[in-house]
This record gives sequence, C-alpha cells and structure tokens, in this order.
Amino acid sequence: MGIESLQVENKKGLVRVDFNVPLDKKTSEITDDTRIQAALPTIQDLLNKAASVVLVSHLGRPAGERKPSLSLEPVAKRLAELLSENKVLFCNEAVGTEADKMIRALEPRQVLVLENIRFYPEETSKEKKDRLALAKKLTSNIDFFIDDAFGACHRAHASIVECAELVPSAAGHLLKKEIQILESLISKPERPFVAIIGGSKVSSKIAVLESLIQKVDSLLIGGAMAYTFQKARAIDVGTSLVEKDFLSSAFQIVDKAGFHQCDFYLPEDHIVATEFSENAKVKKTSNKSIPTTMMGMDIGPKTIDKYVKVIKDAKTILWNGPMGVFEMPPFAAGTMAIAKAMSKVKGTTVIGGGDSVAAVNASGLADKMTHISTGGGATLEFLEGKKLPGVEVLRKKA
Ligand code: AMP
Repeated sequence: MGIESLQVENKKGLVRVDFNVPLDKKTSEITDDTRIQAALPTIQDLLNKAASVVLVSHLGRPAGERKPSLSLEPVAKRLAELLSENKVLFCNEAVGTEADKMIRALEPRQVLVLENIRFYPEETSKEKKDRLALAKKLTSNIDFFIDDAFGACHRAHASIVECAELVPSAAGHLLKKEIQILESLISKPERPFVAIIGGSKVSSKIAVLESLIQKVDSLLIGGAMAYTFQKARAIDVGTSLVEKDFLSSAFQIVDKAGFHQCDFYLPEDHIVATEFSENAKVKKTSNKSIPTTMMGMDIGPKTIDKYVKVIKDAKTILWNGPMGVFEMPPFAAGTMAIAKAMSKVKGTTVIGGGDSVAAVNASGLADKMTHISTGGGATLEFLEGKKLPGVEVLRKKA
C-alpha cells in the first residue's frame, strides 16, 4: 500500500496532500505550516527518486467557487522556501489547458502545486459521475497517484477516491504512519490504555466514546461535554453548556462503560465563571456541583490530581479535546496539566487531532508525544471503527 509498491522513477505523480493550513484573516499569511512540513517526507522521497510531483489539496470551504482568499498560491510559496533545492511552480487552476500544459512540461525533481481543488464543485459532488469526470481530468497526464492527506480520507471526494481508482496508487508516508499508529491503538494497545476526551460537545463524540469504552481501561472526561454527563446524573451544572438532546445518550454511556469494565471518570471539581469571558469573575468549586449563576470553564485542582495519577500509570494514552476553554488563560490549567502529565509517560502517547493539537503546541510539549495526528474528523471516525473511503480505496488496490 506504500510508495515502494509503485514505479515512480522519472514518472509523473499526483499527490493528494492536506495543505488546509490556518491563514491570518487579515493578511492571508500562513499562521502554522505544520501540515506543509508533515507532507515533506513523501514529496522529498519522490523527488529523490527523480519523479515529477504534482500536488493537489483543498484549503478552507470555498463551496465550489473560486475565492482568491483561499488560493493555494501562498502555500506554494512557503513550500518553495522549504524545498529550496527544487523548482516549485504554481498553477492557478487545478484542471484545464494551463494545468495540462504545466504538467506535461514538468521535469523530474520539479514540483507543481495546483490551485485549490474545492474551487470545483465536482470535487465534493454526491454524484459519482461528476467526481469521476474531475478525477479523469486531474490524472490525464499522470502515471501514479499517492494519497498523503489523512485529514481528508473520511471524505469520498474526487481527489481522494476517484483519482486512486484511475491510476496505480498508494499511501504516502504520512498517511501510512497515521494508519499504523491508530490501528495499533485499536488492535493491540499496551495496557493500561487510557483515553482522555474533552472539547465542547458530547454530540460530536458520542460515537467515539461508544467505541472507546469497549477498548480502554479508563476514560477521563473533561471540557464542556462533562456537564451534559453531570446533568444526566442530576448534578447541578449552573449555566454551563449542556446538550439537552443528549442527556439520555450520556446517561447510557456511563452505564455501558461499567458493563465493559471501563473506569469512567467525570470531574470532581471545576473552575467556574460568571460568564464566558476571561475577564469574568472566576471561582473554584469544592465539589462536583456548580452554583446556579456560574458556568464550568475548566476542570478543578482535585480533578487534575486524580487524572494525572491515572495518566502516570498508563502505557497507552489517547487524547482528544481540551479540558476547558484553554484559549483563555484563566481556564487553561486543566488542559496544560494533561499535556504535562502525558509528556512524562514512558508509553505511547497519541494526540488525536483537532483542538488538542493546538493545546499541545501551545504547551511547548509537542515533541514529547509519540504521535500527533494530523486528522480531526478522520481520526475520530477511524477510532470509531468506521471505514475511511480514502483508505479503503487504497486497500482494494493493494
Ligand atoms: P471540540 O472541537 O469539540 O474538541 O471543542 C474544542 C473547544 O471546546 C475549544 O474551543 C474549547 O474552548 C471548548 N471548551 C472546552 N471546555 C469548555 C467549557 N467548559 N465551556 C465551553 N467551551 C469549552
């Protein structure tokens, strides 16, 4: 399934990368180039083997229209700085006469970045024939296809699925690493296996929680989702964020965790505030109950102590979602304490994408983790046990 299964020397390869980088709203400058850096091993490997590399990616959600603010041109510029030994070109379309011309003229060891593929409505079309038509254009001068965009593999899009169907294809180094690490978490984790799940909503993580309670020894809950669990158990939550429609699901998950012998932890105390603001009046509760006029913003010190103890003894840890509103300094302590505790663990530590990646980067402890997943939704869907279209198509061809 990897690059080694393909003939790439002196051939033209289309590589689906995830260059969906954060941009500064005012200046459109790239604020974090982690995703560009993460694609380098595959690009570099192909260049070393004298391939011509054509890169295709999405950026943001242009909804099938050309939006200059979501052009990949700044990304191509950044990539050119990172690949200073090679020529990096940019084409202001992904398919068409100009793209065809540039791909045909591309020489070995040169790179061409195509324009944002989501400027084309066929990319995300529900109709297979539309996606196939776009993929045919994308691969018309191409010898092989490599998918290295784990973060987009849960989408059945043209540049993910149909391109792989049309030409010899394989997984890039990043995609292969992501799958190997996440698969090993699910299939043969060293125990104790602990999952820490936080973030704003239970609703977006119900499926992954259902799956994890069957696999992990302990599940630690933080973030706003803790309050829906707490409310479901008739514990006061004040004005905290609660998803009323998910109270019964939350109630059932705790019961099911018991059935699967998974120790299910909810916060024992909280940092609360009068309103959702870093300038609000902040207090610490002495137990699980939150006063009527206050909202929960972070886990409290007793909870931190308890969670840190569980983390210390773990051999495998998966973390997705912050413990509090970590973007505001008064409510960042819980999230930072988790990052610090994980950084000291000798076993496998995996950050499962999304906001926890930003939190770990902010903590300065990113290099102490075994793996930081580049996928958000894709990581969660993989852990839920769903088959990802982008991975399945490559498996079928292997
Ligand atoms: P998610 O995308 O579901 O992982 O949620 C991440 C977001 O949850 C972050 O922006 C946090 O600020 C937010 N969050 C975490 N804890 C709380 C809380 N207690 N109240 C409101 N939002 C929270």
